[in-house]
Amino acid sequence: MSTKISVYENVTEQFNRAADLMHLDPDVRKILEKPVNEVTVNFPVKFQDGKVEVFTGYRVQHSNVLGPFKGGLRFHPRVNIDEVRALATWMTWKTSIADLPLGGAKGGIQIDPSKYSQQSLERITRRFTFALGNTIGPDYDIPAPDVNTNPQIMAWILDTYLSTIPPQERQRSYHVVTGKPIELGGSLGRDKATGQGVVFVIQEWARDCHIDLSETTYTLQGYGNVGSWTARLMAPLGSRLLAVQDHTGSIADGRGIDPEALQQWVREHGGVAGYPGSRPVTNDEFFATQADIFIPAALENQITAETAPLLNVRTVIEAANGPTDLEGDAILKRRGIEVLPDILCNAGGVIVSYYEWLQNKRSELWELEEVDSKLHKRMISAYNRVRDTSRELNVDWRMGAYIVALRRIEKVYMDRGIFP
Ligand code: NAD
Repeated sequence: MSTKISVYENVTEQFNRAADLMHLDPDVRKILEKPVNEVTVNFPVKFQDGKVEVFTGYRVQHSNVLGPFKGGLRFHPRVNIDEVRALATWMTWKTSIADLPLGGAKGGIQIDPSKYSQQSLERITRRFTFALGNTIGPDYDIPAPDVNTNPQIMAWILDTYLSTIPPQERQRSYHVVTGKPIELGGSLGRDKATGQGVVFVIQEWARDCHIDLSETTYTLQGYGNVGSWTARLMAPLGSRLLAVQDHTGSIADGRGIDPEALQQWVREHGGVAGYPGSRPVTNDEFFATQADIFIPAALENQITAETAPLLNVRTVIEAANGPTDLEGDAILKRRGIEVLPDILCNAGGVIVSYYEWLQNKRSELWELEEVDSKLHKRMISAYNRVRDTSRELNVDWRMGAYIVALRRIEKVYMDRGIFP
């Protein structure tokens, strides 16, 4: 019987396994077991109609041993300190694997954004930014978009943050958030970056396995930023999308779903349900759809004791953070379904966020081709490090990825020492 464990217990267990396998230095292990800082803010917002509501927001800064804290902000009713802690920890491993001079953080507000107008969301975002105060900063902790947050929300954060610092510092502080609109210092290629990174990993994996992607099929959970970009970038490679699920329902079409047309539908109707030409399927049917690849790109804990036995694929490419819980992972392993882990597959977002941060710091604007080719190079070298480490130590992809991440952090602690 399934005993639900929290996302933070999931990340802790993954970490402990990897630390045991690689014999991580016990002092470094103790340090990494806990986030450096955890900030909870309860802040009031007065709306246009005069009503006041109090919201709870979080920012967890797991580690800055490799560089400034970095990680997204999520607006979702299920956001809580445990989830944010887990997501912040995964960010530390991710930036380490991608060889970035950045640490790991995450934040969010416990809120259902669909219940608020744009005007109200702006007020909430601005008041949250104000409440965070110096918790964030351009060379200290740099937020970015995540679930239900987007370039517009980053623009409000930027504007609020700049309004609270001395005028002389404003022009050189645009890198306080990434994932901004292009006109406000955003980077070309950031919007699609996470999906693009996922597709680069899939291409490299297919090359390694001698698989022709034009003959493959896949299913996809989540059709937001990451899911839709992944599908749109998979389309030119010829891979057929057989089923999609989001918060509005699950759809399937054995002939293949057109990602561009679906994107248009989701933009107009708010979700995949009812997409013309597809048939609605149940949750179980969605998970049981036979395909080569399953790409979860929605939320945590989706591949579980209930759904893992249903999956009918060769490989899971984790585009979401933490989509597979511990029981799900064990079942997939027993069933011989390989899993390429989140901390490798979805690193494209933070990589291009890093490029945006660099462009802002240097007052530069890079061409899209430059961003894409740098992203490609960095994703492939991360992929190669993880694959080679997994093979060398005869461990699964997830443990290989953790060991790559932890080795780099351990080396930094060994070089720096522990103060005092
Ligand atoms: P998003 O808000 O743009 O999209 C989320 C998607 O998940 C939507 O399609 C939504 O319908 C779907 N969804 C929500 N609840 C669901 C449910 N119960 N069942 C099925 N689908 C559901 O978010 P996003 O930015 O695309 O993020 C998706 C995942 O990717 C998250 O785990 C996020 O942490 C991770 N991620 C995002 C980025 C990024 O750059 N945006 C980077 C790295 C990782």
